Amino acid sequence: MAPTKLAKYRAKRDFTKTAEPSGRAATPRANRLRFVIQKHAASHLHYDFRLELDGVFQSWAVTKGPSLDPNVKRLAVEVEDHPLDYGDFEGTIPKGQYGGGTVQLWDRGFWEPETSDSAEEMIRKGNLKFNLDGQRLKGSWVLVRMRTDKYGNKRNNWLLIKHDDKFAVENDGDNILEEDRSVASGRAMADITAGKGKKPTPFMRKGGNPQRFETAWQR
Ligand code: MN
Repeated sequence: MAPTKLAKYRAKRDFTKTAEPSGRAATPRANRLRFVIQKHAASHLHYDFRLELDGVFQSWAVTKGPSLDPNVKRLAVEVEDHPLDYGDFEGTIPKGQYGGGTVQLWDRGFWEPETSDSAEEMIRKGNLKFNLDGQRLKGSWVLVRMRTDKYGNKRNNWLLIKHDDKFAVENDGDNILEEDRSVASGRAMADITAGKGKKPTPFMRKGGNPQRFETAWQR
């Protein structure tokens, strides 16, 4: 694991008050790199997009959620690295705590860099091309870092864009956001907030075995 990468993550949270994982427990490795997307009703609804890399989740908050329309660019704000077991978290962060609000596991599966350059190198250059093999999102995507502004503000803003392939959907690219259902528990946001319904099936803690969650979700 990479404990120093999680210093920012831990500094923002009081683990006696939030049920989010501290990241101190080891998460089993998988044969492929994993990703998760968490729909998060914090002060503003957003979709947290997390790609497994070097033992943590590189994370971006996608303000309006991903679009399947290649003509649509979605702002993705780079945020602190998250622990891998965060990828199994679904629940409600208490009011007053960092990110207070309900979290739903909206998508999960596997990803891979699309070129022979390493993912680390593409992230450094601010142009990460990748493929997703998830429950909801599939195919080719890119994250492009926006230039530093003239005031020298930090380069935390990226754009998430769907590449044109057989998984692209022009014009109705946001339809995918309409179904309010967890891929891990089948629950709607309101069920999670109320603490009702099934607990999410684990993915990260099961070493990323896709059979387990596909079965649970399709039931
Ligand atoms: Mn969030």
